Amino acid sequence: MRKSSPLSAPTLTIAGHDLAIKRHPRRRRLSLRVRAGQVEVLAPTSVAFAQLKQFANKHQAWWLEALRSHPVAQPIAKRVAEEGAFWPLLGNEIQLSFRVGRRQIELCDQQLICQFPQPDNAQVRYKHLQAWWREYAYQHLSQRTQFFAQALGEAPSEIQIKTYRARWGSCDARRRIQYNWKLICLPSWVVDYVVVHELCHLKQMNHSPAFWQLVNRLYPDTPQAKAWLKQHGHQYIHQL
Ligand SMILES: [Zn+2]
Repeated sequence: MRKSSPLSAPTLTIAGHDLAIKRHPRRRRLSLRVRAGQVEVLAPTSVAFAQLKQFANKHQAWWLEALRSHPVAQPIAKRVAEEGAFWPLLGNEIQLSFRVGRRQIELCDQQLICQFPQPDNAQVRYKHLQAWWREYAYQHLSQRTQFFAQALGEAPSEIQIKTYRARWGSCDARRRIQYNWKLICLPSWVVDYVVVHELCHLKQMNHSPAFWQLVNRLYPDTPQAKAWLKQHGHQYIHQL
């Protein structure tokens, strides 16, 4: 589970903007970039949160200007299956790169290498990409469910991936958990909250104080995740 210490905080809010923090052990120095309407703070693993904040504050004029001059993050429905387009995956903006060949889709770092036979048109490519996102959702959500099920001591009878327009997940009386595949576009720490929420329904089939107590105990970042979903969730759920 993600620790809630400031060192691992995934975002930083300055002047009403959420900056994504991207840490990497091989990174040597702090830097900033703007991608698909999102400001990213690139940092070595060891840099303290306070230092990141100071750095981002100092360069605020630069990234505000960059945000103004770059197109804002596209609504999900407007994402296209074209060269260089960005699609959201676990809170990252993944860039699509197309090649001609035997049909194959492979994730390499922050790039999705999509190999399709020549005659495929944009609509067909879109369908295949969506299928890949859905499969990725199944793998990731199954893995996270297993992880938290161990901590809870309860496991679902089955995990199903669905397309919903108004909910992220559900848990039925037969102990099956259904997840909305669009969850996979959200930051991983928000996805974890939804997983824990649905799992806790295996013990409490309601939203009673006892249920919320259980959710909060298993996932302490629950209030932040709920706030994130309230603010940004609609952008992802109605579309794609
Ligand atoms: Zn619920």
